[in-house]
Amino acid sequence: MTVKVRFAPSPTGRLHVGNVRTALMNVLFARSVGGKFLLRIDDTDLERSTKAYEDGLRDDLTWLGLTWDESFNQSERFDRYEAAKQTLIEQGLLYPCYETEEELDRKRKIQRAQGKPPVYDRAALQLTEEDRAKLEAEGRKPHWRFKLSGGRIEWTDLIRGPSHIETSSVSDPILIRADGSYLYTLPSVVDDLDAKITHIIRGEDHVTNSASQIEIFEALGGAGSAPQMGHQPLLIGADGEKLSKRLGSLSIEGLREEDGYEPLAILSLLAKIGTSDPVDVRNSLDALVEEFSFDKVSRNPARFDGAELTRLNAKLVHEMDYADVKDRLAAINADAGEAFWAAVQPNLEFVKDAAEFAALINGPVTPIIEDPDYAAEAAALLPEGELDADSWSAWTGAVKDKTGRKGGALFKPLRLALTGQTRGPEMAMLLPLIGADKARRRLSGESV
Ligand code: GLU
Repeated sequence: MTVKVRFAPSPTGRLHVGNVRTALMNVLFARSVGGKFLLRIDDTDLERSTKAYEDGLRDDLTWLGLTWDESFNQSERFDRYEAAKQTLIEQGLLYPCYETEEELDRKRKIQRAQGKPPVYDRAALQLTEEDRAKLEAEGRKPHWRFKLSGGRIEWTDLIRGPSHIETSSVSDPILIRADGSYLYTLPSVVDDLDAKITHIIRGEDHVTNSASQIEIFEALGGAGSAPQMGHQPLLIGADGEKLSKRLGSLSIEGLREEDGYEPLAILSLLAKIGTSDPVDVRNSLDALVEEFSFDKVSRNPARFDGAELTRLNAKLVHEMDYADVKDRLAAINADAGEAFWAAVQPNLEFVKDAAEFAALINGPVTPIIEDPDYAAEAAALLPEGELDADSWSAWTGAVKDKTGRKGGALFKPLRLALTGQTRGPEMAMLLPLIGADKARRRLSGESV
């Protein structure tokens, strides 16, 4: 059996860390067993789905390196869903209902008041042909429910282990709304069958859907046709709060464009949180694939912590070769050569922050000089000609001998004069990049 999995986002918003974690687990599993990964665009909601969001999610996945072997849109497949609808009607498993939202709401309230679970009472199954004709003559349009078996559905979840749902405790799910539009439940099953999906890996919020869908799989595809299921525990914030409300601000687009995170920082974090592996950075998707196993995935929620993401990002940046980052530096006006990269790299959390340090070299820098006499003495001692990696220690050694200063009193005023800042990359590396001429002028107070 060739493993085939799918990621099925709706193009009604940007991808965020929550849904990318689901995509990632699908990709890691597929690649770890030589399987295929399908991208399905769940765009049956024609009003809320947009091409721009679809393009956006394809761009985000591509940027992350989560590329797919195959892709299609649900909006191209309405004829298949219509055929499935007819099949279920013929099997007596899909029935028309005419209650309005208000009527259903009232029923649920009464059930709750009686201490009963708010499960749909199947009143519509009692309607005669005439009742239905009458309702339709009044202008009512039916919505359609799938008739659950009432039995116990069992499956061995790839993450949660042996799982079951008593379908008697669940309402018959609505598959088609009164306006004729499909909820996601039926199209998803039709597509999973047609695409020969072998494993469905998705969020824990779909556990109840799985029970209904397993019955729909069996109705349309025969016994045993349901794929294996794996339900991933949800993401929570670092302080344990639900992340669902904040997910909008954790879009991949924002993490990439505003914050400047590296794809592998995001992938590493999302692959490791909520697993028994330590949370650490990996420098390729392949490395994450190699380490993947469902056995490592915890049943507890996974904590997403922005500070941890930044820590992983910094670690990646600290290991980047100049050749790999050169073009990106140039694009932000921060390509000041390999020696520059070596000087600033250990101080960076994000590549884009190199721009700030490039400005220390290129200027203009506004020097901070508290003691002009000291600055002048130091300037006079600057070595002549090209400065190199040893110049800083030779120079500050000479300044020390001449002035008797040491420690902070020796070094701090020099950094402040040369960079206008209290902290930053190693001065020994910065000084040759600034050069003797600019250094002298800055020590004299000139903004250059
Ligand atoms: N479009 C559905 C969602 O995003 C897909 C769920 C599934 O993976 O079956 O919730």
